[in-house]
Amino acid sequence: MCGVFGVVTPSAEPTEAAAVATLGLFALQHRGQESAGVAVSDGEQLMLYKDLGMISSVLDERRLPSLRGNLAIAHCRYSTTGSTVWENAQPTYRQGPRRAIAIGHNGNLVNTRELLTQLTGGRARLPASTDTELLTALLADEPATDTVQALIQVLPRVHGAFSLVILDQRRVIGVRDPHGFRPLVLGKVPGPSQLGGPSDGGLWGTDDADVGWCLSSETAALDIVGAEYVRDVEPGEIVILERGVPPRSVRYAAADPKLCVFELIYFARPDSYMEGRNLYEVRRRMGEQLALEHPVDADLVMPVPDTGAPAAAGYAEASGLPYREGMYRNRYAGRTFIQPSAGLRHRGVTIKLNPLREVVNGKRLIVVDDSIVRGTTTKRIVELLRKAGAREVHVRISAPPIYHPCFYGIDTSIETELIASTHTEAQIETFIGADSLGYLSIRGVLAALDLPYDRFCFACFDGNYPVPVPYDAANRKFMLEEPVAAVTRG
Ligand code: AMP
Repeated sequence: MCGVFGVVTPSAEPTEAAAVATLGLFALQHRGQESAGVAVSDGEQLMLYKDLGMISSVLDERRLPSLRGNLAIAHCRYSTTGSTVWENAQPTYRQGPRRAIAIGHNGNLVNTRELLTQLTGGRARLPASTDTELLTALLADEPATDTVQALIQVLPRVHGAFSLVILDQRRVIGVRDPHGFRPLVLGKVPGPSQLGGPSDGGLWGTDDADVGWCLSSETAALDIVGAEYVRDVEPGEIVILERGVPPRSVRYAAADPKLCVFELIYFARPDSYMEGRNLYEVRRRMGEQLALEHPVDADLVMPVPDTGAPAAAGYAEASGLPYREGMYRNRYAGRTFIQPSAGLRHRGVTIKLNPLREVVNGKRLIVVDDSIVRGTTTKRIVELLRKAGAREVHVRISAPPIYHPCFYGIDTSIETELIASTHTEAQIETFIGADSLGYLSIRGVLAALDLPYDRFCFACFDGNYPVPVPYDAANRKFMLEEPVAAVTRG
């Protein structure tokens, strides 16, 4: 996953860009909690600060004042290629023969090994083991003099999922892969002369030299920094932001939109908008569909907090059953899934969730969540609810079973770890210890979205991968940690 943000600020205040980028990134913390970083440019020089950890601990008041410049990009990481080590934190940085660039990447490339071979026959020494580092090296070393020209040369060779924010000396550049697997939106920051006044409403305003522009993984971060949503960066498009001029757009590939449907189901914030839909509303409607597909007699409907809440609300409305919060979630514990080892993940559940005995004791519960990946969290939740006195636990999932790994940016790339790929629904029901289990169908998801199947990537649900995944890309999160050793030996 990962969150990316980029900004070109309207004001002359030299520390504003880093501050705005950090603030925007903070709204994207849910997209990655392993590391955080900001890169800035003052028009001549790039400067970067990154570290492992949550955004608020990495980018604090001591760091920001030294990051001076009107252009900034920021990134928070959820790893899909490479270990969680400092070197792999982003933005990446590389000084090439023609340019210095920094990159923040959301997504995952599928032809990483092929790209490594292109880079000096695989003998390049990379300072990190991520696909993003490789992309940064390819771009920084590309002979074309201009960064946009370099992108036009390099991007057609890059396959997989990438929503990028790129910083060179003078520009912040946004890029989406031709399928637009991961989201990226363009926003406009009102300049000093417009603050408080009406917006000019233009998509690419020309009369506003003091306007700033930003790029963000999600629209919620635009709200947080006081920017207006302008439009999505389109799949296959490069958007170039510079101070004092309206954004420019260059297309490097035809668009074939396949936005990850799991963004809408689970990953993105409910206050964000995608495909013109508010995600709270989309998820609430998925809950309604779920109630139609899998009704059951019970006393109350409760969510698995927090992400199951909109679907639980929809389920309750459609079924006419009362909605209650039957569990408290500790908001200060990170997302369980993101913790590294299975043991920790398992323990994390108890750290995070505590049932409300008053609500669940003696009750027949419908427990609504948005997904089951490995099944371990769900099993633990059912156990906790039974211990707290629940009489029946009916689990309802507002997404289809996840049968297939994701190679486009969600860390579910090991098929055997996906419970639905090795168990039938009846076996999953037994494994999690529920009285009944019901998943929303793909048709139900589409009814809630009210959009055609073709616009989305449903690969984790139906195995229909829009970009073929070479055999060696599968199950190889740490593949770039192997060639480095090989090169050292050789
Ligand atoms: P489990 O029962 O262990 O498969 O965990 C299911 C929980 O994981 C659900 O509450 C989901 O909201 C959550 N979940 C699903 N996908 C992810 C992901 N990529 N990262 C973090 N949590 C996730």
